[in-house]
Amino acid sequence: MTGTDLPALSIADLQLLLRRREVSPREVIDSLRARIEAVDSEIGAYLSLDTEAAAKEADKANVDLPLGGVPVAIKDIINVMGQPCTCASKALQGYRATYNATVIRKLRTAGAIPFGKTNLDEFAMGSSTENSAMKTTRNPWDLSRVPGGSSGGSAAAVAADAAFGALGSDTGGSVRQPAALSGVVGFKPTYGRVSRFGLVAFASSLDQIGPLTKTVRDSALIMNAIAGHDSQDTTALNEPVPDYAAKLGNDLRGVRLGLPKEYLIEGIDAQVKAAINAAVNQMNSLGAEIIEVSLPTTEYAIAVYYVLATAEASANLARFDGVRYGYRAKNPRDVLDLYGRTRGEGFGSEVKRRIILGTYVLSSGYYDAYYLRAQKVRELVRRDFARAFEKVDALISPTSPVPAFKLGERVADPLQMYLADIFTIAARPPIAQTVIHKSSAQ
Ligand code: GLN
Repeated sequence: MTGTDLPALSIADLQLLLRRREVSPREVIDSLRARIEAVDSEIGAYLSLDTEAAAKEADKANVDLPLGGVPVAIKDIINVMGQPCTCASKALQGYRATYNATVIRKLRTAGAIPFGKTNLDEFAMGSSTENSAMKTTRNPWDLSRVPGGSSGGSAAAVAADAAFGALGSDTGGSVRQPAALSGVVGFKPTYGRVSRFGLVAFASSLDQIGPLTKTVRDSALIMNAIAGHDSQDTTALNEPVPDYAAKLGNDLRGVRLGLPKEYLIEGIDAQVKAAINAAVNQMNSLGAEIIEVSLPTTEYAIAVYYVLATAEASANLARFDGVRYGYRAKNPRDVLDLYGRTRGEGFGSEVKRRIILGTYVLSSGYYDAYYLRAQKVRELVRRDFARAFEKVDALISPTSPVPAFKLGERVADPLQMYLADIFTIAARPPIAQTVIHKSSAQ
């Protein structure tokens, strides 16, 4: 179809053209590839693209399926068989996935075409994508700023019309925060809604896959495809999946929305405050009742998260030892030298910081004081939310206390970076199903 800027379309609008046979899936892939070629040298959203495989899939696509012929970009921490899966780490440079994640299988069943692996903070640890060992991703709205993270490549690709939609993963904000900083829609599903089989684990009691899209409807369409039970992930909920798009477009009469009083504190950027106020007014004018609620444990949420997430990461990342897959140090003297140098050379500094912190809080002398106590406070945080949800249907909250910041501005100060996760890290399931046992390390 001449005259239409295909890559600028939402998924829903693209589908209309595909179903009416006004464009072919092949034309869609070709126009998207041209857009990526035009903009991605500046933005750096993608780590790899397999155009040939995508073109083959496009030629076979059934456009009458729910996402028939729609290309979807994938964060490079989700396994797509035959494609690289680097987790933006030197530890997995050159590694290719040997199987498909369940979300990839489900996207294909819905007719979508996984196309392109996007940049991230190494092993999804970070909030700016600056911890990638591969490249810098820039915010398409202002190239001197970060796109957010860790799913910054997915967010930037969608914001730059270099993806129709993308998958990210969210442990403590990694879908929501980059979506907010890049001006797109990010949806973190409830833990268990989407199978994590084939997602490289960071903190297993928190990790969840979710969509980044141009519109809310598009997120609903992707959720309809990827949600649901999976026998390969024991944490995947065995509950019916609603039609996420069914209620879109209704007004908000009868809906009660909670505004946590601890969230509108000093230190929130004036632009963020203004955006929240505008959203509250809009929802109010659509009929929603706005009610103040309290989440008193907010001040502990960051500490709890950074104890539990690092503990789980230290256990999960033990597998990258140079024997099973990925990077292997050259000419090891013995097996300890192999492990030590492989990990020392393969991991970046943020990943090492977290492994060290996580190993420390699990060590026998500190397990009770840090890990176990954090598990208990996690339950208190959960109860705050449960109490709030007795009064309201949903909460309104900023995603990040600050808008997109400059590249290089915060990366040297990890604590400052962690503190900005305050609004996203408390959304979590009850006490970890995976309780890690005390380590014998001293
Ligand atoms: N920014 C948080 C962190 O660095 C969240 C990351 C994520 O959700 N993967 O841990």
